[in-house]
Amino acid sequence: MLNLDFHPTGRHFLQIPGPSPVPDRILRAMSLPTIDHRGPEFGVLGLKVLADMQKIFKTKHPVMIYPASGTGAWEAALVNTLSAGDAVLMFETGHFASLWHKLASRLGVKAELLGLPGAQGWRQGVNAGMIEQRLKADSGHSIKAVCVVHNETSTGVTSDIAAVRRAMDTAKHPALLLVDTISGLASTDYRHDEWGVDVTVSGSQKGLMLPPGMSFNALSPKAIEASKTSTLPKSFWAWDEMLEINKTGYFPYTPNTNLMYGLSEACDMILDQGLDVVFKRHQRWGRGARAAVNAWGLPIQCADPALYSPILTGVMTPEGLDADALRKLIYERFDCSLGTGLGKVKGRMFRIGHLGDCNDLTLIAALSACEMGLKLSGVKLAGSGVHAVMDFFSANPVPVLIKN
Ligand code: PLP
Repeated sequence: MLNLDFHPTGRHFLQIPGPSPVPDRILRAMSLPTIDHRGPEFGVLGLKVLADMQKIFKTKHPVMIYPASGTGAWEAALVNTLSAGDAVLMFETGHFASLWHKLASRLGVKAELLGLPGAQGWRQGVNAGMIEQRLKADSGHSIKAVCVVHNETSTGVTSDIAAVRRAMDTAKHPALLLVDTISGLASTDYRHDEWGVDVTVSGSQKGLMLPPGMSFNALSPKAIEASKTSTLPKSFWAWDEMLEINKTGYFPYTPNTNLMYGLSEACDMILDQGLDVVFKRHQRWGRGARAAVNAWGLPIQCADPALYSPILTGVMTPEGLDADALRKLIYERFDCSLGTGLGKVKGRMFRIGHLGDCNDLTLIAALSACEMGLKLSGVKLAGSGVHAVMDFFSANPVPVLIKN
């Protein structure tokens, strides 16, 4: 029920791992009047954002933009490349990998889910060795695609996509490589062409700092070839018409015009600053958040430090403390939203997002909300995470940027 006594002032702390807080500059860009999506101005905007998105995906090949959430772009990647009954190999790194698997099964492909046993699977990334073994055993090449999640938003664990590519090459297997970087794009290193990815799936509401409602497929020539013979039903998601009309900057149906303004602004912000600077910023926030969690003495959901996500930190709550009750308390007392534990880890962990319109002080404030909430819930903390993160940011200033 709506609590009418609750009148928070100031900005709400949206510290979930997406949708991320949208910078004012992007909100202002999106507030412009809606234009004719078949008029002369739109084509210029369309061509600009399509070219910008190629830079962000690091690809020379086409990028599809859908007026849909990320789930739509997941479906688009599959229906454009596969036919009914095709086998696909997926890897369970967390809730989103499981959902993509469920979606694939519902589309009528034979989706096989590899994974590490027990609770460990949701604390680790993709095991490229297991993929290699499975592909080597598939001597008849019935597996048509390998699908993996780059930044598992439900756990805060990243996966080494270049290692998956190497595993596929070592196995000499011709399957397509499909990657979900819905929460990784524009906040951690991603290289569509260099890593030999055939379809990359992404969304607007995470590193691109936009509201939800727009999603992407970056393609490879091999994926485009596969789309010519794939027979899963498709119309809205079909690449062929999109590829044709995108050449002029237009779309086969009504694009979300105002999100396009926002996307153009977001690309300017990200590309003007430089992707490497953006990646370093997120890594630094990730280190700051982990300094706090370590000081509290609580375990981080990601068990391998080499795979820590720079975009979010998953915190495991002590036995007996329901993470959702803690989140509720923090929301009600301090007007701060934290990500819930999803699927298998519901109630066992919460997620702190450090992406979008964030800075050191917003992150410190969010961590202070967590610390107060943990103490109010009776958790005996080993130390102050807030002091630890303040010390970390003080000792590690943002490098001064000198632009030539
Ligand atoms: N994949 C990942 C890694 C995600 O984080 C999400 C959403 O958070 C999705 C897929 C699903 O995207 P959407 O909720 O935009 O449909």
